[in-house]
Amino acid sequence: MRAVVYKGKDKVAVEEVSDPKIEMPTDAIVKVTTAAICGSDLHMYEDRSSAKPGCVFGHENMGVVEEIGPGVTSIKKGDRVVLPFNIACGFCFNCTRGYTSACLTMNPKVAGAGYGYADMGPYRGGQAEYLRVPYVDFNALKLPGTPGDQHEDDFVLLADIFPTGWHAAVLAGVKSGDSVGIFGAGPVGLLAAHSCFLMGAAEVYLVDRAPDRLQRAQKIGAVPIDFSKGDPVKQIKEHRKSNKQLQEALREGEREKLTGVNCAIDAVGYQAQSGQDPKKEDPMQTIKWATQVLNPTGGLGLIGVYFPGDPGGPDEKAKQGIYEVPLGELWTKGISIGQGQAPVKKYNAYLRDLIIAGRAKPDFIVSHRLPLSEAPHAYEQFDKRGVDGGEAWTKVLLKPELDRASKAA
Ligand code: NAD
Ligand code: ZN
Repeated sequence: MRAVVYKGKDKVAVEEVSDPKIEMPTDAIVKVTTAAICGSDLHMYEDRSSAKPGCVFGHENMGVVEEIGPGVTSIKKGDRVVLPFNIACGFCFNCTRGYTSACLTMNPKVAGAGYGYADMGPYRGGQAEYLRVPYVDFNALKLPGTPGDQHEDDFVLLADIFPTGWHAAVLAGVKSGDSVGIFGAGPVGLLAAHSCFLMGAAEVYLVDRAPDRLQRAQKIGAVPIDFSKGDPVKQIKEHRKSNKQLQEALREGEREKLTGVNCAIDAVGYQAQSGQDPKKEDPMQTIKWATQVLNPTGGLGLIGVYFPGDPGGPDEKAKQGIYEVPLGELWTKGISIGQGQAPVKKYNAYLRDLIIAGRAKPDFIVSHRLPLSEAPHAYEQFDKRGVDGGEAWTKVLLKPELDRASKAA
């Protein structure tokens, strides 16, 4: 079969690799219909992780079950499924408590396993024609409909980005009526905003400097904040101050101390651009801004990734994943902090049902739908956040189906 293979810094190729096989009686082989490229893949692509050449990328996968092992009981050949990016056994101490993101049995090295990802175990990714899925009874989420229908691009986002955005809001403690500041308007930040509104947030601010991403934010009712135009903390506070009704509803004391937001989400991670000089990285930039903009007793969700090792980190400490955090201000304000990988399985069935009911429509983030063979070009452009024919590269879906169709024609 053909698959997207990492070739070293800034390079992937679509190559012939061996077909996946049933290795355990509980496995299935899925014929991939759509596999997305994630912002997380770019950390590996840019050689900012421990991923080694030869790795088959792709952890956002959906398709149709092609073959099942003799121990599979509830999934059949022909079922349409989406796979959480976390690979989990379902029976260990963490899985049974819902922490499928920290499964204890699927990865010999650390807690948590995934498809085609650095340090996430020996599993190949699904930016390929076929994918081996361990413990398919537990891991697969069944989907209605047929491949390529009106929900194909919504459903593939259930593998990672939509549940991840939802989890970010949970980590930040978002409840109905809350005000939320989100840093990073990539796919994760945008779907965190969508999730906040579904949870009933009153106000959502989305901070980035990419005009097309800020436009997508505005379209779903968030307030876009462009950090290339000045300190985003000041901009959010000024926006709230200019809301006369909001100010009128506050007492003295409240007016001076509730100048920011109740919840903040970091949807950028360790490769954050510096606010002073966007050509430079400042891994703590978004955490610093979030700390400043949070009201006392607020919640902070860190969904953007921070790795224990970063070969390209700006200094020696950053290379080991050690950073300076404004702990004094966070502590004094009594901020609750949540972080880590999203346990996709905790949310994906509910989010699927929101899509089926027509209440959630996550595919507004998708910019490109391409054949698998165009992956090298897609990685290059997505990494540059390029623009082509007026459409900026926000979320790219690879569709092996399109290669099959063009071969048949
Ligand atoms: P992305 O790279 O497409 O988006 C990041 C956005 O952040 C970009 O639009 C960029 O312009 C913006 N940005 C850069 N510096 C900024 C700053 N200082 N302030 C505000 N915005 C800034 O990536 P994505 O797919 O949206 O993913 C975002 C992060 O979430 C990545 O770190 C990714 O690895 C991580 N992620 C985590 C999980 C999880 O389970 N925790 C799952 C998926 C992705
Ligand atoms: Zn992802």
